[in-house]
Formats: sequence, C-alpha cells, structure tokens
Amino acid sequence: MAYDYDLFVIGAGSGGVRASRIAATHGARVGICEDYRVGGTCVIRGCVPKKLLVYGSKFAHEFEDAAGYGWTVPAPTHAWPTLRDNVNAEVDRLNAVYLRLLDGAGVKLHMGRGRLMDRHTIQVGEQTVTAEKILIATGGHPVIPSIPGCELAISSNEAFHLTELPKRIAIVGAGYIAVEFAGIFNGLGSHVDLVLRRDRVLRGFDEECRTAVHEALKESGIKMRTEIEIGRIVKKGDNGPYEIHTPLGGMFETDLVMYATGRAPNTKGIGLEKAGVQLDKAGAIAVDEWSKTTAGNIWAVGDVTDRINLTPVAIMEGHCFADTEFGNKPRKPDHRSVPSAVFCQPEMANVGLTEEEARRTLGDLRIFTAAFRPMKHTLSGRQQRTFMKLIVEAATDKVVGAHMVGDDAAELIQGLAVAIKAGATKAHFDTTVGIHPTAGEEFVTMRTARADTAPTRAAAE
Ligand code: NDP
Repeated sequence: MAYDYDLFVIGAGSGGVRASRIAATHGARVGICEDYRVGGTCVIRGCVPKKLLVYGSKFAHEFEDAAGYGWTVPAPTHAWPTLRDNVNAEVDRLNAVYLRLLDGAGVKLHMGRGRLMDRHTIQVGEQTVTAEKILIATGGHPVIPSIPGCELAISSNEAFHLTELPKRIAIVGAGYIAVEFAGIFNGLGSHVDLVLRRDRVLRGFDEECRTAVHEALKESGIKMRTEIEIGRIVKKGDNGPYEIHTPLGGMFETDLVMYATGRAPNTKGIGLEKAGVQLDKAGAIAVDEWSKTTAGNIWAVGDVTDRINLTPVAIMEGHCFADTEFGNKPRKPDHRSVPSAVFCQPEMANVGLTEEEARRTLGDLRIFTAAFRPMKHTLSGRQQRTFMKLIVEAATDKVVGAHMVGDDAAELIQGLAVAIKAGATKAHFDTTVGIHPTAGEEFVTMRTARADTAPTRAAAE
C-alpha cells in the first residue's frame, strides 16, 4: 500500500522536530502535526523562557553585590511587563526559527491535534493522512492535585503571561519547576512562600546538595513552609487574595498560587488504543530500548515515555530513532550519565550517581567535597557558599558522580560530564591543571577524601 508519508510525527516539540528533520535529511517523506505552537514545552513554555526569567531576576542580586565593588546603584525598580514581553518576543522568534527548520528540511507541517485512527492512519483536524511509520512525541502537561479551590491555581504555563507581578506568591512543590520559579519571583521582588510536603526540596538529588540548596533558598528570603499539605484554597475577592488552608487548621494569605507538583505524559485523546499502543504501569507510553512501542510501526520519544524528562534526552531519542529507521545507522539512546541542572539560585547541577545511589550500587567509595565562599562574595559580602562533590569508586578509581551547588554550576558540570562519560578516574582529575582563580579548579584540587570514606578498604589492602 502507498502511504502519504514514510513517517508521520505527532507533536512538534524537541523530540518530534529533531526526529522529523533527521528522517527527512535521510530522504524520508515526513509529515508532522502540532496543536499548539511548534517548539514544544522547552521553547514555548519551559526551559528557554524560564532561563530568561532567571537571568532577569538575578540582576537584583547583582545590584546588591555591586556596592562592595564601589558602585552606587540607585534603588532599582523593575517593570515586569517589559521582561515578560521581551521574553515572549524571543519565544516568538524561536518559534519562527523552528518553523523555518521544518520547512527547510522539507517536513510538511499540519496544524491541529493528531489522533491515531489505526496503525497507519492519523486524523489531524478535518484531514486524514496515512504513514508507514509513526512517531508519538506529544510531551507532558502539568498536574495539579484535585483539592477544593485547585482551579484557582496557575501552573508554570501561565506564569509566563501574568498581567502583573504578584506582591506575594505561594508556590507548591519542591521539584525543578517549584524551586526555579521560587528564585525567579523572589529575585523580581515578590514575597515567596514555597510550600512543600517534605522537609527539604529536590527529592532524588544528592542529599548534601539538597540541604545546601534548601538552606540557600531560605537564606535568600524565600519562606520555606515545609511538611505542609494544602487542604483547600479560598479566594477572598475578585482578584484574590487567596487563603491557603492546611488540613490541621493552619492558614496563610497570598496573591497568587502556583502549583509545580509534577507533570504527566500526554497520552489521552490521541487514539493509542486504536493502534495497539500500550501504556506502562505509570501511565506513560511503554517503549523498548529503540523507543518502539507495542505497535510494530509506531515509536515514541520524549516526556510521553517518561524516561528522563529533559529536552536534550528527547532530542537524543528522536535522533537515534531517525538514524535507525531512515538512515541505516542503528543506534540506541544512551540514558547513562545524563547531566542535568536545576536553575534555582544558587544553581545546582550534577552528572552520574548521587552518594546515596553509589552506596546502594557500588562497593567502597571515596568522596571528596569542598565548601567555600566564592571569591566574588569576599567583596560583595553575600553569605553564599559553593558546594562541590566528587564520588569515586574505590576499586576502579573512576569518578562516578560530580555535583555542584553554586554560580555557573550547570556550565561547569557540562564540561565534567564529558570526562565522566569518557570514564575519567580521580587520577585524571588530579593530573589536570586548574584554571586560577576559578571555582572550577576546586574540582581538580580536591586531595583528601571525606573522613568517613578514607582510608578505604581498597586503599588499605
Ligand atoms: P518534579 O517531578 O521535579 O517535582 C514534583 C514536586 O511536586 C516534588 O517536589 C513532589 O514532592 C511535589 N508534589 C507532587 N505531588 C504533590 C502533592 N500532591 N502535594 C504537594 N507536593 C507534591 O516536577 P516539576 O513539576 O518540578 O517538573 C517536571 C519535570 O520537568 C521534571 O521532572 C523535569 O524532568 C522537567 N524539568 C526540568 C528542568 C531542568 O532541567 N532544569 C526544569 C523544569 C522542569 P515529593 O518530592 O514529595 O514527591
């Protein structure tokens, strides 16, 4: 049977766009559909606009720090509409770049929601197209727990379009998005209540790093409301304020409530059942190591598969799929040692295992840490500290984890990720000459293992 396309992609986000462009470059006839804006979460309402807001909010600290260097800065004021509109104009520019990329690669864009009718047929709006192979890259969406008043809360999607900056905001959650937006609103001058159900932010990250970030957020003026579950939200006037009630009778007031309590895969209403595409136990599309679903001609990449929900991972998965299926270059995505960063203030980044994971999965370890006041703050007077950690497998001397909390952590860890991916040992780190004076040189000058991990059994034998 002749199909309209060799490949049809549902969802024009990071993974879908990469896969479609590469497949087209390999000579495939490719169509793609999108029901919102080409670019996906990362470009339109995620990583990119978020990072620009982080830059915007950091100026507040820069102005304060300048005094110790002799600058007199008049009390700065901030115009939220300027920042918001400039960020959204940049998003529009990138959206146009993505459209041009698709066009330039010869990928045909169908605007509208794609729905599988059977294994080879997709309905997009009023149109029906057929394809030999199909890729699902529909991403995810924010999840807000169902409590009385939850409809009053916004998610990060709306945070980029606020008409005005709230004087007070309550952010619920303690993951990536919650801590990043807590830093943004705090820097821009809002009073921030961060409401989390555990004792510390960022569960799943290295415990010492979590503690360092948690304490730093507190130090920066964010009110950390720990071990609180919200019972209901009540609106007091037309535009707020809002009362946040806890089940035990506690209450505080705020002007805006934002939930950042996780995201779920976009699997509903896309006809998966009609094509035999099954979900895993957690509700994501089940895929094998080639990103193939339970339907033989259908693949899925990115957040809809809930493997590692990061843009560069979706891009890797999409690229591997296209090379394998259309480029005669079979390759599987490698989900090991994926570095990541949380753009809270101070920033946190890591690659490889946390200390806790290493303890569970490896033998003896040697752990090296450094905690220091960054040079810049000797004059600025800011009480911010940098924390670094290297985790070394004693038996092989391999560095299996690198972690940092502090300025430019993401930039530094990106470099170290190459070394760790290449299997660098602690001896390689030790023989690398530092760049002075930098924070990064600490990573190559840590000589004494933490007392509880040295001397190791391996070293003593
Ligand atoms: P995360 O999964 O990172 O965090 C969810 C947070 O919400 C956790 O702190 C969790 O608490 C809390 N939570 C969940 N349910 C409830 C509830 N009912 N009441 C109170 N708290 C609750 O999700 P995010 O929304 O922050 O981010 C989604 C994904 O987006 C991330 O996993 C990441 O992959 C991606 N992302 C990546 C970024 C980056 O790379 N810099 C930036 C932003 C997003 P608990 O720990 O107790 O479960």
